[in-house]
Amino acid sequence: MSTKSTMMDFPLTLPHMLERIGLYFPTIDVVSRLPDKTLHRTNYLTIQRRAKKLASALTQAGIKKGDCVATLMWNHYAHLECYMGIPCTGAVLHTLNLRLLPDDISYIVNHAEDQILILDDVLLPLYEQIKDKTSFKKVIVVPLCGAEISDEFINYEDFLETGSSEFEYPEIDENDALGMCYTSGTTGRPKGVVYSHRSTVLHSMAEALGSALAINQCDVVTPVVPMFHANAWGLPYTAVMAGAKLVFPGPHLDAESLMDLYEQEQVTLSAGVPTIWMTIKQALEAEPTRWKTAPNMRMAVGGAAIPESLFRVFDSFDMKIIQAWGMTETSPLASIGILKSGMSDLSEDEQYKIRVKQGVPLPFVEVRIMDDEGSLQSWDGEAQGEIQVRGPWITGAYHKEGSQLDKFTSDGWLRTGDVATIDPEGFIKLTDRTKDLVKSGGEWISSVDLENAIMDHPDVIEAAVIAVAHPKWDERPLAVIVVKEGKSVSKTDVHSFLKGKFHKTWLPDDVETLSEIPKTSTGKFLKKELRKIYEGWIWK
Ligand code: AMP
Repeated sequence: MSTKSTMMDFPLTLPHMLERIGLYFPTIDVVSRLPDKTLHRTNYLTIQRRAKKLASALTQAGIKKGDCVATLMWNHYAHLECYMGIPCTGAVLHTLNLRLLPDDISYIVNHAEDQILILDDVLLPLYEQIKDKTSFKKVIVVPLCGAEISDEFINYEDFLETGSSEFEYPEIDENDALGMCYTSGTTGRPKGVVYSHRSTVLHSMAEALGSALAINQCDVVTPVVPMFHANAWGLPYTAVMAGAKLVFPGPHLDAESLMDLYEQEQVTLSAGVPTIWMTIKQALEAEPTRWKTAPNMRMAVGGAAIPESLFRVFDSFDMKIIQAWGMTETSPLASIGILKSGMSDLSEDEQYKIRVKQGVPLPFVEVRIMDDEGSLQSWDGEAQGEIQVRGPWITGAYHKEGSQLDKFTSDGWLRTGDVATIDPEGFIKLTDRTKDLVKSGGEWISSVDLENAIMDHPDVIEAAVIAVAHPKWDERPLAVIVVKEGKSVSKTDVHSFLKGKFHKTWLPDDVETLSEIPKTSTGKFLKKELRKIYEGWIWK
């Protein structure tokens, strides 16, 4: 006899999460900082009712299963309502990146065939720039500033009133599409990644694990990472699932506004890219006793490499950085830098060496590293290769482009384009993007390692290292830095600071100071732009 499982086949879909916040966490706060800096307060019961009204109104407006509904919004309560309400109709939440150029936004809207747009009133000037190249059936405007909304648009609040909070969910299969994000596209056109209900639910459960971000009902969660970038790292969904309080920063992402918010709402977990934390670090160093944040506040940091000094400084303020690695294609959380049991016995220095690594994959995420010739590399902490991943919340294709691109292997793994080593404990350490490695005299130099080490210099705010053609060595590293106001850091300073940390052939041949390093819409160094600036660089 072949024994069969007796378990129910219960779908992993979003309506369950939306019902749950109303049933179990109705009074939990959702706080949003509005464009005028005032705080908007609501709770999960109200969010649930309004999300259901939105779902009902969208259904009455003709939105069907699989249709894309776009949002162009900052992080706040109404965006959370869209996060929950749109997928509960069976439609697809398409978050548009407001930092992209208007041409890219309209390309993405047309490629995704977005039907309806919901946007913040403060972003109407951006809509004006895409309006002629897009054709939404309806444009709904959220009145964050309380100003009149012209007749050309539908007021979000009026639109909600056309729906009912008694909305009956349609049948949704757990593999149906829930949301969509386009990659930030440092090369070529952005590509669409479509998440399913199942992938989002599983990602939320894994993110909440004690060995991941350990999110529970007592947490106060502030996603600084935008809700238009890889679902704000899944945090809105994870917080809703856990019943944790959410605090949204709106458009105010400067250090002072964020620190004020952390203190005022006693935030226990926040998340964002390193540039955000760099500015906060400066604010804290300038006024070390000004803010009292929640004890042992956690900060999930990812999206770009994090210098060790940042971990040390925040530890001294009782704010703990947890490194996370992933990408739009991986929902995005794929690995997390949490020390294993036993590692707490290591010396402080050894612990920092581990914390700067990108960590261990979450359960059900499988990784391998492969060299250019397609040979698997060993996990010895030395051999490096491209990280390839697979798992239930890793995309297996791009929207309308399938999996034929060079982004997937023939045996079904996603090629991340990140180069890494993996140590015997399974900790991933990113050394570069495949395109950013410096090849000097036949040897690979890691731009990321150099950048992190230079950014530890007390007078350096940011450092990017790029490969520049060299007549003898093929390529040599050029460091481009931004220094603190009133300071100057020369090539000799950088060399003596790096002395003993790297072999001398790794030291950058030149150091250039800029007032700002060009960045992508999601805060990564735009090395393509830097390479353009220094094309044809003459070595001194
Ligand atoms: P995105 O799809 O915009 O989220 O970008 C994903 C890319 O960001 C990855 O492929 C990495 O190159 C980079 N990245 C993400 N997390 C980290 C991290 N913790 N350290 C270094 N780079 C990271």
